[in-house]
Amino acid sequence: MRRDVRSILGYAAAFFAATAAAIFWTRYSGGLALFWPGTAIAATLFLSLPYRLWAMPAVIVLVLSTIATAVFGFGPGPAIPLAFVNIGEAALTAFLLRKVRPQGDYITSGSGFSALIAFAGLAAPIAMSLPGGFIAWHAVGGTWLSHAGAWIVGHGLGAMLVMPLVLLLAADTKTDGTTDKSFSPFTKRSAEFVAVMALIAAISAATIFQTSYPLLFLPIVPVVLASYRFGRMGAAVGVLVVTVAAAISLAIDVGHFAALNLTIAGKALFLQFYLAVLLLIALPLAIALDQRERLVNDIVQREALQRLISDHSDDALLHLDRNGLIRFASPASKELSGLDDLDGKPISAFFGAFDREVIDEALSDARTAPGTTRIIERSVTRGHATLWLEAKIRSVYSAGAVGSFVVTIRDVTARKLDELQATREARTDALTGLPNRRAFLDVLEDQLAHAHEAPFALALIDLDHFKRVNDTYGHDTGDVVLKKIAGLMREHTTRRCFFARLGGEEFGMIVMRDAVKDAPEICEHLRQAIADKRIADQDGRAFSVTASIGVARIAETCSPSMAMNSADGPLYAAKAAGRNMVRLAQREGHWTNTDSTASLTRPERQELGVAAR
Ligand code: GH3
Ligand code: MG
Ligand code: MG
Repeated sequence: MRRDVRSILGYAAAFFAATAAAIFWTRYSGGLALFWPGTAIAATLFLSLPYRLWAMPAVIVLVLSTIATAVFGFGPGPAIPLAFVNIGEAALTAFLLRKVRPQGDYITSGSGFSALIAFAGLAAPIAMSLPGGFIAWHAVGGTWLSHAGAWIVGHGLGAMLVMPLVLLLAADTKTDGTTDKSFSPFTKRSAEFVAVMALIAAISAATIFQTSYPLLFLPIVPVVLASYRFGRMGAAVGVLVVTVAAAISLAIDVGHFAALNLTIAGKALFLQFYLAVLLLIALPLAIALDQRERLVNDIVQREALQRLISDHSDDALLHLDRNGLIRFASPASKELSGLDDLDGKPISAFFGAFDREVIDEALSDARTAPGTTRIIERSVTRGHATLWLEAKIRSVYSAGAVGSFVVTIRDVTARKLDELQATREARTDALTGLPNRRAFLDVLEDQLAHAHEAPFALALIDLDHFKRVNDTYGHDTGDVVLKKIAGLMREHTTRRCFFARLGGEEFGMIVMRDAVKDAPEICEHLRQAIADKRIADQDGRAFSVTASIGVARIAETCSPSMAMNSADGPLYAAKAAGRNMVRLAQREGHWTNTDSTASLTRPERQELGVAAR
């Protein structure tokens, strides 16, 4: 808030100095000032504040405007009503500009600048010329129309020429002390700035103050130079310098504008037209140059950042042409590809020969969907090691077509190993270290898919009266038992014989291929080993456990639960027959999974009263 007050006082001082000078110097015919910069200053002040803060600056400007007119102009009588019209013009200008272009780009874009011309240069001065002309006519006589005309000329000219400058200065001081280089002439280039402005002043004086040659086009040259060198600030100040020279020539009645065969208001109108043309050439040019400079700065900065990233990144950063051939490869590419020179090669050079098709497909996908990233992950061999590489591919759209591709390739081996480890953990029983039910079902499904041509054996192994073990020796000892039994199963594990803990004290076994016929024997061997295993409790007392085993030969494709049920039947039979035994799902001398009762669950079988075999 304190900063606001300080800036309001700054505007107020500038307003008073500019209006006093304009009234003093440019009331050529004793009527209205023909150059009025006050509205530009007050309107910029209003634009810098929200509506609710307009009252205080309005009162200050009103008082100052009254004083300036009373002292330097029409005297105290018309000063107060005229001040109201002046402040009304500034408020109207700010209101219209804010309404039409709330983004405030009056000097940063072409259409913003057009709005500035239309509202500050034309609409507001025309509207206020009615009361303004009336007051002047009342004060000094003459015709109302000529005063209104002088108002439009002086105020329109003043707003158009001064407002870009005030807006630039306002933008310059708004940011907390730091100065935007593109706006400010007050840098080490200020000497050059002063020199260029002096050149404009000299050329303006030389062309405007003489009438021998029609050289009024000449000042455009140094003004364009100022726009090139100093952007919008150069253009605005340059045109202002020409304006001052022209206004002086008119005031002392010397030179081209003074020599025109017109009334003083007509001369001023022509001068305004001349200066407006000058500004309309210089300022849009400066705006376009500023925009381009900002774009170039942006590109340069991004390029520096890209170079930094590409030089120090462990990822390969690649730029491919529209045919997918490498045009730029960052230093890390060498190590990741194992190749010294990648220029002109396709990115499949990073991968194995088998992956070429996948990569070509990813490139064509990226081509058809610009803005989206295709990700492919492939394993490659480098020497004796296996690496996992992840490629991210994106097409770059420019000028309406896919012009190139950007690709990053990263070594994701560590992440891949972590993932594999996590999957392994997700498939392992934490207590015993055996594969878990999930893993068992996967193997079972695999086997079932080919069961009709490659029969396999499925066994369910359930410890007998395990609840009693827990009750007698404690849960911890129960756990030890489970681990010891799992150890026995590991001893029985071969490439053809797979064990898993299905849950609780129940285990599963799958025997495959040529070992299938040995399944009953393996089960019997395991049963015996379990029964023989001496286990010590926490007090050192030895005991042993037994297991019941049901085993079925699966020779037909069926659902996993049906297959499990086939082994569950004989397991139930073994339990019913006294436990610690192996029972086979058997009919007519060979194994089958088509026993109608074997596919029932244990409670169902109990319900049916199926006898153990
Ligand atoms: P059956 O001979 O009929 O199989 O009798 P059982 O007591 O073994 O059968 P049941 O299914 O009724 O009981 C299984 C017991 O196994 C119940 C539970 O306390 C125990 N158990 C299950 N998981 C664990 C485990 O991780 N650790 C220990 N210590 N005990 C477990
Ligand atoms: Mg049990
Ligand atoms: Mg059980």
